[in-house]
Amino acid sequence: MQISDFKTWAVRAAEWAADYRRTLRDRPVRPNLAFGAIAARLPARAPEKPEPMETIVRDFEDLIVPGMTHWQHPRFFAYFPANAAPAAVVAEILISSMAAQCMLWQTSPAATELEITVVGWLRDALGLPDGFAGVLQDSASTATLAAVLTMRERALAFTGNRTGLAGRPAVRVYCSDQVHSSIDKACWIAGVGEDNLVKLPGRGPSKGLDADELDAAIRADRAAGHLPAGVIACVGGTSVGASDDVAAVVRVARAHGLFVHVDAAWAGSAMICPEFRGLWAGAEDADSIVVNPHKWLGAPFECAAHFIRDPESHVRTLAIQPEYLKTYGETRIVNFSEWSVPLGRRFRSLKLWFLLRAYGLEGLRTMIRNHVAWARDLAETIRASEGFELVTEPVLSLFAFRWTPPGATDLDAANIQLVEAVNRDGRVYVTQTRHDGRIAIRIQFGAFEMTEGDAREGWRVIREVAAGLEGG
Ligand SMILES: *Cc1c(COP(=O)(O)O)cnc(C)c1O
Repeated sequence: MQISDFKTWAVRAAEWAADYRRTLRDRPVRPNLAFGAIAARLPARAPEKPEPMETIVRDFEDLIVPGMTHWQHPRFFAYFPANAAPAAVVAEILISSMAAQCMLWQTSPAATELEITVVGWLRDALGLPDGFAGVLQDSASTATLAAVLTMRERALAFTGNRTGLAGRPAVRVYCSDQVHSSIDKACWIAGVGEDNLVKLPGRGPSKGLDADELDAAIRADRAAGHLPAGVIACVGGTSVGASDDVAAVVRVARAHGLFVHVDAAWAGSAMICPEFRGLWAGAEDADSIVVNPHKWLGAPFECAAHFIRDPESHVRTLAIQPEYLKTYGETRIVNFSEWSVPLGRRFRSLKLWFLLRAYGLEGLRTMIRNHVAWARDLAETIRASEGFELVTEPVLSLFAFRWTPPGATDLDAANIQLVEAVNRDGRVYVTQTRHDGRIAIRIQFGAFEMTEGDAREGWRVIREVAAGLEGG
C-alpha cells in the first residue's frame, strides 16, 4: 500500500470501527473456540509478494474478528474492564499516525509537556496532593517494577545497580496475600526473589494487612539481619477487591523508614469521585501510587499513571545517560524515559488529554457512579434470591456470589459449570475466583457503554442458564 491510498483505508477502518461499536451489544462477548482453530486457517509463511489491502481487510473481518473476545462489550463482566472510550480511540489514531518516540523531551517536546500537564490534572482529580509528580507508564506491572527497584536501591544506598545483590543482606518487601501477581514478578525481576517477598494474610472482611503483624514481620527480619526495603499496599485487589488500610500501612512503614508503593491499578480510577476515597485513605502519604486509566477510566491500553513523591530516587535508580541520550544546555528538562524501565515510549498523554476533555470529569464520575450503584443493586437482588448467595460485599463495582442449587453435592463444580455455561451462551462474560478456599463467581461492572439494562439482562441470562443446568 502506498501513502496515496492511506486516506482511503484509514477512512474504511474508521467506518468499520464505528459500525463495530454500534453493533457490539448483539455479538457474543466471547467466542467459543478450541485452541488452534484460528491459527489453522492462517498461512504458514509470510507472503513474498505484496497483497492488496482489500484482501487483508477482508481476512481481518472473516478470520480474526469472529475469534476475538470483545472487551468493549457492555456485558463484559469478567476480569477488570479495559475501556477504550471513542474520543480516546480517535487520539490513538493520531498517535499511531505520528508514531513519535517520546523517550526524551527533545524527541517530542509537546508530548513531554502534555504528559506533565495531564498527569497533574489526573492527580488533582484523584484528590492527591501537589507533592506528587507523575509519569505515564505502559502498565501497572512496570510501574510496580520501577517502584520495587527504587525501594531496593534506597535500602542499598543506591549501590545495587552497580554491585549486584550477591553477598548483600536479603532485601525484603512486604505485602498481603491478596496482591496482584505483578508484585511477585516485580520482586523476581528486581532480584529480590520470591522468598524475600513477605506475604502476610489479608485479615477481616476487607482482607487487608494487619498493622501489628506487619510491624512484627519487619522487626523479626531486622533481627535476623535482613534488609527491609518497602511495603506494597493493595487497594482493590483483583480477586474480590481486597484493600489494605493504607494509612496504617504508611504509619508502620514510616516508623521503620520503609518505602510504600500503592497498587490501585483498577480501583484508583474511582477516586475521581470524592465519596469513594475512603478506600485508599492514607495514599496521599505514600511514596508511589499506580492507577490504570486504561482499565475503568476509558484510556485505551496502555496508559498507567504512576504518581511519585520523590522522582529523584526513581531517576537515580532508572536513569542511564549514554552520550547519545544527553541533552546539553538544558538543566531543568524532564526526560520521562529516566522514570521507567523501557527506553522507548508512546505518546500516551494525548489519549488521556482527549479522554478528560471529551467527557469531562463530571462525565467520567457519572459513569463510575452508575457502575457502582448498579453493582450494589444487583448484589442486593442476589442476596435476596433463592438458590444464590452473596459471597463478598461490593467493593466499588466488584463482588462475588455463588450458585447454591438445592441438592448439589459439589458447589465448586456446580459454580465452575455455571461460569462455563454462561460464557458459552455468549450474552455475558464472567469469571470465577477462589474465596476462602471455595469457588465463587466474580462480577464487575465497568464497560464504558454499559447501561442499567445490561446489568438486568446479565442477571436474567445467568438465572436462565442456571435454570437450564438444573433442568438438564
Ligand atoms: C490489572 C492489575 C494489575 C496489572 O495491570 P497491568 O497494567 O496489566 O500491568 C496490577 N494490579 C492490580 C490490582 C490490577 O487490577
